Amino acid sequence: MSLLEVQSFAAGHWRAPDAHARTIENAVTGAPMALAGNDALDVAGMLDYARTKGGPALRALTFHDRARMIKALALHLGQHKQALYDLSYATGATLADHKIDVDGGIGTMLVFASKGRREMPDAQVYLDGPVEQLSRQGSFLGQHICTPLQGVAIQINAFNFPVWGMLEKLAPALLAGVPSIVKPATATCYVTERAVRIMLDIGILPEGALQLVAGGLGDMLDHLTCQDVVGFTGSAATALKLRSKPHLLQNSIRFVAEQDSLNASILGPDAAPGTPEFDLFIKETHREITTKAGQKCTAIRRIMAPQDHVDAVIAALSDRLAGTVIGDPALDSTQMGALVSNAQKRDVLQQAALIGQEATRVFGDPDAVAVQGADATKGAFVPPMLFHCDDPDIARHVHDTEAFGPVSTIMGYRDTDHAITLANRGGGSLVLSVITRDPDMARAVATGAGALHGRIYFNNRDSMGESTGHGSPLPHMVHGGPGRAGGGEELGGVRGVMHYMQRTAIQGSPDILTGITGTWVPGAAEAKAPAHPFTRTFHELEIGETIHTSARTVTLEDIEHFARFTGDTFYAHMDEDAAKRNPFFPGRVAHGYLLLSFAAGLFVMPDEGPVLANTGLDNLRFMKPVEAGDAIKVRLSVKQKTPRNEDYGEVRWHVTLTNQDDDPVAEYDLLTMNARH
Ligand code: NAP
Repeated sequence: MSLLEVQSFAAGHWRAPDAHARTIENAVTGAPMALAGNDALDVAGMLDYARTKGGPALRALTFHDRARMIKALALHLGQHKQALYDLSYATGATLADHKIDVDGGIGTMLVFASKGRREMPDAQVYLDGPVEQLSRQGSFLGQHICTPLQGVAIQINAFNFPVWGMLEKLAPALLAGVPSIVKPATATCYVTERAVRIMLDIGILPEGALQLVAGGLGDMLDHLTCQDVVGFTGSAATALKLRSKPHLLQNSIRFVAEQDSLNASILGPDAAPGTPEFDLFIKETHREITTKAGQKCTAIRRIMAPQDHVDAVIAALSDRLAGTVIGDPALDSTQMGALVSNAQKRDVLQQAALIGQEATRVFGDPDAVAVQGADATKGAFVPPMLFHCDDPDIARHVHDTEAFGPVSTIMGYRDTDHAITLANRGGGSLVLSVITRDPDMARAVATGAGALHGRIYFNNRDSMGESTGHGSPLPHMVHGGPGRAGGGEELGGVRGVMHYMQRTAIQGSPDILTGITGTWVPGAAEAKAPAHPFTRTFHELEIGETIHTSARTVTLEDIEHFARFTGDTFYAHMDEDAAKRNPFFPGRVAHGYLLLSFAAGLFVMPDEGPVLANTGLDNLRFMKPVEAGDAIKVRLSVKQKTPRNEDYGEVRWHVTLTNQDDDPVAEYDLLTMNARH
């Protein structure tokens, strides 16, 4: 049978494997199925192509343009996901596994697309934090901004998630405006290749924005500059080899590493057998051992239970594992497929043997695995294996040996501190889970173990109906961990985009800052509005466009009327003597909400117009009390505009209320939705 030729996409052309290509095996049959690798790839040319074509084209777009592009790619992938599922069975994965990989990857892209539109501006510069006051009068200010790196994102991925692994790096890199060269693990690169073809087919990615290396990278890493970034997912050993390359160190080239991890799950002392928490613990642990046949960086490798409950956990988990149907992943009734290759199987059995030196195997015999629909002697099948370590304090391998398959070790703990100590013995992990309903236990774990785990997942009967699972990295939350887990961080919403951008501290006058950021800064020049800004459409409004209202005197009658009308008769508004005893007030003062209402009365236009709705206030501060007799007036400036859809966009207005002495009494951002046309 002819082998599938997995091609690379380099400098705009597909390149077939050459004579040195590696053979890829079908995980289920053990038979050769594909070839990948081309030693003649011009890797320096690929970098140059990305830098000169892809980078400038992506940087010319705004964050919103890029977010729309990511959404379109995700939707297109969604329409073709069956092709990806069909190919993925050969990796040993079941349909449920494909959904984590393919649908999970598409979902991750959609979240980045949405966050790009909602949390980033329709511009090329991202503002990181508020304006910093660097001078007394406000003529010299500071602002942190982020702009895209002017290089390439080299994305080296592990074999276990050929689609998600690519998309979770590609989405933030594209959103940042940085082109990518994707290098999937060779063992499953044929699935990644198909996903890349699907994305390129739609024709919306700028030339040079996405390239693919199937097979080895050659000496590409030796051609990188400080504007490039390596995003690596894989084993600690490969990460060490790559990140310690002198060229990377000499040039301070960013290296974000996600590597292996001895994740733990703790059964809380309150979660005794018979509670919903105990059942939940067994269910989650079983899922983490068997999903992707345990080939998940976040899988539970170490199970911690109160000493009194260890036997019950072994019994319940073994019972559940015994019911797991192993076999041909293409069969509907198969619950756990094969490992990715027979080489991987040998590796897992070797690591399991190491763990077996310190722990007793209480479930799963690799020499007696029952497999349906496939030949267990040919495919890379192993059974789930559960070990019990009865002295986890002196054990070493159970805390530092990753058998990247369905292998987990259960150990007992004496008290919460002991559980924390054991969890931390992993030397830094991606995720720790705790099944408890006890907030004190949760706080003790968060403070005692937080520093050694990238994510801590708490679950119990209250949250289990909607919880997302110990092993699921979510695009909204950071994925990564200290120490053994690589010290890197990915995802986490806009935080994940920052790996591909440079943060720069900008210092200058308000006008300079406004010019750079496209966001009006108090103190910058005010543009005179040609008409009341509430009569102008989203498109017509200009940044800095400002009106100053007339003044309105606040009377005692106003304060009393407002108090009676709203029911807010707080003593500072109603009782002169009591108000005077308060350290903040000279006597009776106007309600803050009265001032906001009067402000609105000073600047709104009553007629139907482009302002569609008031959607909120941000950063509200009352700076000086207003007494009866004071006269307030308003300065209203267009601070920022963010398109939302074809029909309307959000306008952020900077509002300052001052008194008759021009002292600021209140300041806030007002948000409105305005018609675009
Ligand atoms: P691996 O053997 O370390 O390979 C990872 C990647 O590095 C592959 O793409 C591999 O390509 C590439 N690579 C190896 N040597 C290279 C070199 N000299 N130059 C450039 N690239 C090189 O890991 P794996 O077996 O694919 O994946 C399993 C490991 O990944 C496990 O330890 C697991 O814990 C970890 N993992 C971690 C995460 C996480 O998010 N932290 C996620 C998934 C997996 P080839 O395949 O072509 O050799």
